[in-house]
Amino acid sequence: MSSSFSTSLSSTPSPTEVLEKIQHILSVLECPICLSVTEDAHIIPECGHRFCGDCIKESFRKCKNECPSCRAHVSTRRALRADEIFDNLVSLGYSAIVSYVVVVFFFILPLTL
Ligand SMILES: [Zn+2]
Ligand SMILES: [Zn+2]
Repeated sequence: MSSSFSTSLSSTPSPTEVLEKIQHILSVLECPICLSVTEDAHIIPECGHRFCGDCIKESFRKCKNECPSCRAHVSTRRALRADEIFDNLVSLGYSAIVSYVVVVFFFILPLTL
């Protein structure tokens, strides 16, 4: 019984690999300004970088319409595009990622320790 169990476990990715993947996904969803998941996502058309609506508007007020990531100049604040598709993906994807993390930490990790 235990031998068949360990063979099925060996085919799953290691917890470190899983955590690295989750971290990568989270970093894509992350706003570079507030370092949490991007809310009310807005895209800078000039360079394609994505920030929270509030973060990027605040940043434009302080630093003369420059992209905080690459310093591309943005002609006008009105050029910012709301990214509703991204918002929908985040709301779907984030809850999925969180439940995945819960499964890894409470069910997979204790078995391998
Ligand atoms: Zn932000
Ligand atoms: Zn940029």
